[in-house]
Amino acid sequence: MNNTPLHDLIIIGGGPGGLTAGIYAKRAALDALLVEKGVAGGQLNNTEIVENWPGTEKITGAALAEQMAAHAASYGLPTLNTGVRELEPGIDHHTVRLENGEELRSHAVILATGGSPRKLGIPGEDAYYGRGVSYCAVCDGFFFRDKTVVVVGGGDSALEESLYLAKITKKVYIVHRRDAFRAGMILQKRAQAEPRIEIVWNTVVSAITAGAEGVNGVRLRNTVSNEERELATDGVFIFIGFVPNNTLVPAGTRKNADGFVVTDHKCETSIPGIFAIGDLREKYVKQIVTAAADGCIAAQAAAHYVENRKNSG
Ligand code: NAP
Repeated sequence: MNNTPLHDLIIIGGGPGGLTAGIYAKRAALDALLVEKGVAGGQLNNTEIVENWPGTEKITGAALAEQMAAHAASYGLPTLNTGVRELEPGIDHHTVRLENGEELRSHAVILATGGSPRKLGIPGEDAYYGRGVSYCAVCDGFFFRDKTVVVVGGGDSALEESLYLAKITKKVYIVHRRDAFRAGMILQKRAQAEPRIEIVWNTVVSAITAGAEGVNGVRLRNTVSNEERELATDGVFIFIGFVPNNTLVPAGTRKNADGFVVTDHKCETSIPGIFAIGDLREKYVKQIVTAAADGCIAAQAAAHYVENRKNSG
């Protein structure tokens, strides 16, 4: 006989998706619990300015994270600050094993673990991480005041972070492997109009070099001519997309080829009662607003799931 309480819902991950799920779960009177190993807000904390959260023209990522966490807390959402080791699906309930050895039981679970920066996998990338190689301009940009940096990537993140770095540094080279950006038009126009930004098209970084002071250059290869050259730089910021944080996703759960969890329109995975939201889920647009929308949908669906189980059992 297991005496640990059986929760209605456990939400794993406290980014915009998880916090919104918490708000909707509490409004639906669920016995819900949020587990977050770091600071609430997730990737918002690495975002300087948010300009596309409806109703708020401009807000720092950290401030929006704080507001969301305070909003969830105002509903009395209990939060455990610890990592999760394992999620074991079950017929009667799902089991969440925490890193501190504690075991939690729940009817429904929402996975909101987000994603992590994708790596280039080139020489020097791991060796000089923290000594000139970075995946977060808001965190590390300050160290490159009046210096030269290389940004790798052509998506929204690469351009947004380049614009941020252009305010601090002397020069930003955006190195992109194609001759067109993937980023939205507004960011493209802003980046192209910024005098401190120079775009290096059709080029990949094949190695990062360093001296005693840290990173001092990159080796570039033109993807059209195959020509190679060196470029002096003090830092390399890599923004080439995200990989899903899917280690807690139970074996057998449906995922796409890139490891993102495939869900139905209710954000439910192929395992009943386990939901996946935000950047962990396969979807067309990954935004704060769509992560929050997922949180709403999954919490509502979880409420129905829990109610049906209680009524049938
Ligand atoms: P992304 O949209 O997937 O873009 C990744 C970029 O990196 C692409 O330009 C890609 O090149 C390039 N890339 C990928 N692998 C590479 C490699 N091995 N070597 C060199 N270049 C490589 O990723 P993201 O910019 O991080 O954005 C992720 C999601 O968040 C997107 O949906 C984005 O819209 C959203 N986001 C939105 C905002 C905003 O609206 N303000 C801000 C940040 C992020 P190719 O283009 O050639 O594939």
